[in-house]
Amino acid sequence: MKNLYLILSLILISTATTVAVDLESSPPTVCIIGSGIGGSSVAHFLRNYSSSVIGKIRIFERNVYVGGRTATVTLAGETFEAGASILHPKNYHTLNYTKFLYLSVRRPPSAESDSGFGIWNGREFVFKTLSFNSDLPIIKRLVSFANSVLIFFRYGFSLFRLNKFVDNTVDNFLKYYEDFESRPVFETVEEMLKWSGLYNLTRRTLQEELLDLHFSPRIIEELITVITRINYGQSISISGLAGAVSLAGSDSGVWSVEGGNWQLAAGLINYSNIEMHLDEEVESVSSIEQKYQLNTTKGKSYQCEITVVATPLDEVNIQFLPGISIPERKLQHTYTTFIRGLLNPAYFGLSSVSEVPQLVGTVETPDVPFSSISVLKQHNENDMSYKVFSRKPLDDVLLDQIFSVRNETIKIDWGAYPHYHAPEVFAPFILDGQHLYYVNAFENAASTMETSAVAAENVARLILSRLSGQKPASTVTLKSFGDDAYDVHADL
Ligand SMILES: Cc1cc2nc3c(=O)[nH]c(=O)nc-3n(C[C@H](O)[C@H](O)[C@H](O)COP(=O)(O)OP(=O)(O)OC[C@H]3O[C@@H](n4cnc5c(N)ncnc54)[C@H](O)[C@@H]3O)c2cc1C
Repeated sequence: MKNLYLILSLILISTATTVAVDLESSPPTVCIIGSGIGGSSVAHFLRNYSSSVIGKIRIFERNVYVGGRTATVTLAGETFEAGASILHPKNYHTLNYTKFLYLSVRRPPSAESDSGFGIWNGREFVFKTLSFNSDLPIIKRLVSFANSVLIFFRYGFSLFRLNKFVDNTVDNFLKYYEDFESRPVFETVEEMLKWSGLYNLTRRTLQEELLDLHFSPRIIEELITVITRINYGQSISISGLAGAVSLAGSDSGVWSVEGGNWQLAAGLINYSNIEMHLDEEVESVSSIEQKYQLNTTKGKSYQCEITVVATPLDEVNIQFLPGISIPERKLQHTYTTFIRGLLNPAYFGLSSVSEVPQLVGTVETPDVPFSSISVLKQHNENDMSYKVFSRKPLDDVLLDQIFSVRNETIKIDWGAYPHYHAPEVFAPFILDGQHLYYVNAFENAASTMETSAVAAENVARLILSRLSGQKPASTVTLKSFGDDAYDVHADL
């Protein structure tokens, strides 16, 4: 294996000599398209891994706010995550960003974590946990114990297999935090996944993986389907890796950033000495005389030696000259509907709203028009904030059947993440063999804030190693950040 690293390093060094960026004259300018967690992380790691090799960094963002798919929504005066909501306790880049930006970690309030959970098949709840509102710790513990017993009776030993499957995948993913001595720079997503032992999981569907591991059909069709529908809006035919990542999102200890996850991208941008171009969409990227010329909707042109695409290219309209070739990929659209009001218990065949679980998950059937409904906040018995995920937009007639009261409704259509299938094919990190990079090639493995950060870190190292023919220094001092975070953000 060591020999493989050596060969990879030599390949990197030899390709570096062919790249035509003239470091003698002035440090190269980097243009980054997209201000989400991916684009802001590339900028952050470039600045932190090299103080002098990189010159100006410009980030272009078509929106008037930064953060991309991390954004908040204000529903009747209360703010909630509109896009990416939760982070895993072992998401170490985002955890580090949170610390260095002096942001606070928010844990789901116990009302959410201990709340009732039910699996709806369009006619009945095939499974329901107990929910009992009490502030007494002993009662909470008893209810929690009773629910564990209930879940065990329904799904049996497959639950332990589930834990093992997720833990093994997370352990492999942790290799991406190893230091530079043991961790090569990767030119392709395939190399990156093979090195950590995750590649094979992208070759087969989650269902195939789990059946081979002797999971019961019931846990696959119910509990696991519910989770993939909530986290990726898709069925168990997603790849094993996307499935494992989605299941890891249900681990205990998940967290978010107090005040909104968008602050991660905003903070990184604020403290990485960036020339930020908000409300400026990149229309074309042309390779002209060893530079890239970016033309934007503001009628302006910018020259840069290095260009990083930090947005999925599937639904954006950037013209590349000369053209680039990447595998076709479709985005899964997730319709997120926020409602302040009250569910209609009769829709679920129940007589009182308190009988409806706080998280309603669903199985794969054409009879159910939504993937999940969750209570975001209980204001009082008759007034709640809800989030509904669906694969298709929910019209008002349907919403009025599901909800008896709707005081406010906000609908968002997200081009959310790739529509996963197995075996996955990956776009390259280097789009043109020169200095045009693509962070979101990694999204076919899995789409999360952390995977974007991990891919971005590799792209930053790739840029630096291809520029200098050397690996960037392994001891990295992260800057310490002040408390005046960038305040341009999305409130959808
Ligand atoms: C509903 C939903 C729920 C999710 N839940 C979770 C979750 O709980 N946990 C989790 O970790 N992840 C979650 N995700 C996934 C997560 O949001 C993404 O994987 C991650 O935020 C991607 O970041 P990114 O920077 O790669 O892309 P983006 O955030 O999409 O950033 C790309 C940016 O590029 C900009 N852009 C595009 N084209 C141009 C152009 N031509 N010129 C200039 N700017 C351009 C876009 O406006 C955007 O701001 C969720 C996503 C959605 C939609």
